[in-house]
Amino acid sequence: MTTKEYTNGDVTIIWQPEKCQHAAECVKNLPQVFHPKEKPWIQSQNASSAEIVETVGKCPSGALTIKSKS
Ligand code: SF4
Repeated sequence: MTTKEYTNGDVTIIWQPEKCQHAAECVKNLPQVFHPKEKPWIQSQNASSAEIVETVGKCPSGALTIKSKS
Protein backbone atom coordinates (compact mmCIF):
# COMPACT_ATOMS: atom_id res chain seq x y z
CA MET A 1 0.00 0.00 0.00
CA THR A 2 1.39 3.39 -0.98
CA THR A 3 1.91 5.89 1.80
CA LYS A 4 2.94 9.50 1.44
CA GLU A 5 4.13 11.66 4.30
CA TYR A 6 3.81 15.39 4.78
CA THR A 7 5.28 17.02 7.88
CA ASN A 8 5.03 20.46 9.40
CA GLY A 9 8.11 19.69 11.50
CA ASP A 10 5.96 18.61 14.45
CA VAL A 11 3.27 16.20 13.31
CA THR A 12 3.40 14.18 10.12
CA ILE A 13 0.33 13.53 8.00
CA ILE A 14 0.32 10.10 6.38
CA TRP A 15 -1.87 9.76 3.29
CA GLN A 16 -2.76 6.44 1.70
CA PRO A 17 -4.04 7.25 -1.79
CA GLU A 18 -5.62 3.82 -2.36
CA LYS A 19 -7.93 4.43 0.61
CA CYS A 20 -8.89 7.99 -0.30
CA GLN A 21 -12.51 8.28 -1.40
CA HIS A 22 -12.14 11.90 -2.40
CA ALA A 23 -14.90 12.84 -0.02
CA ALA A 24 -13.07 16.16 0.39
CA GLU A 25 -13.79 16.40 4.11
CA CYS A 26 -10.17 17.44 4.56
CA VAL A 27 -10.48 20.14 1.90
CA LYS A 28 -13.64 21.52 3.50
CA ASN A 29 -12.14 21.58 7.00
CA LEU A 30 -8.66 22.88 6.26
CA PRO A 31 -8.49 24.39 2.75
CA GLN A 32 -5.18 26.12 3.50
CA VAL A 33 -3.53 22.72 3.87
CA PHE A 34 -5.38 20.43 1.43
CA HIS A 35 -5.09 21.58 -2.17
CA PRO A 36 -6.34 18.76 -4.42
CA LYS A 37 -5.16 20.43 -7.63
CA GLU A 38 -1.65 21.31 -6.52
CA LYS A 39 1.59 19.43 -5.92
CA PRO A 40 2.27 18.63 -3.21
CA TRP A 41 -1.46 18.54 -2.53
CA ILE A 42 -0.96 18.56 1.26
CA GLN A 43 0.83 21.67 2.50
CA SER A 44 1.08 20.89 6.18
CA GLN A 45 3.12 23.95 7.12
CA ASN A 46 0.01 26.12 6.65
CA ALA A 47 -1.81 25.09 9.85
CA SER A 48 -1.15 24.34 13.49
CA SER A 49 -0.58 20.79 14.63
CA ALA A 50 -3.88 20.87 16.55
CA GLU A 51 -5.82 21.89 13.44
CA ILE A 52 -4.13 19.16 11.43
CA VAL A 53 -4.86 16.47 14.00
CA GLU A 54 -8.52 17.53 14.20
CA THR A 55 -9.00 17.51 10.44
CA VAL A 56 -7.19 14.23 9.91
CA GLY A 57 -9.57 12.71 12.48
CA LYS A 58 -12.53 13.64 10.26
CA CYS A 59 -11.32 11.75 7.21
CA PRO A 60 -14.11 9.19 6.64
CA SER A 61 -12.04 6.62 4.76
CA GLY A 62 -9.03 6.32 7.04
CA ALA A 63 -6.78 7.54 4.23
CA LEU A 64 -5.32 10.20 6.51
CA THR A 65 -3.53 9.36 9.72
CA ILE A 66 -1.05 11.13 11.98
CA LYS A 67 2.43 10.10 12.93
CA SER A 68 3.63 12.03 15.98
CA LYS A 69 7.25 13.00 16.32
CA SER A 70 7.85 11.52 19.74
S1 SF4 B 1 -11.05 13.45 3.77
FE1 SF4 B 1 -9.90 11.58 3.49
S2 SF4 B 1 -11.04 10.46 1.92
FE2 SF4 B 1 -11.69 12.57 1.84
S3 SF4 B 1 -10.40 13.53 0.27
FE3 SF4 B 1 -9.45 13.88 2.27
S4 SF4 B 1 -8.01 12.18 2.44
FE4 SF4 B 1 -9.44 11.60 0.87
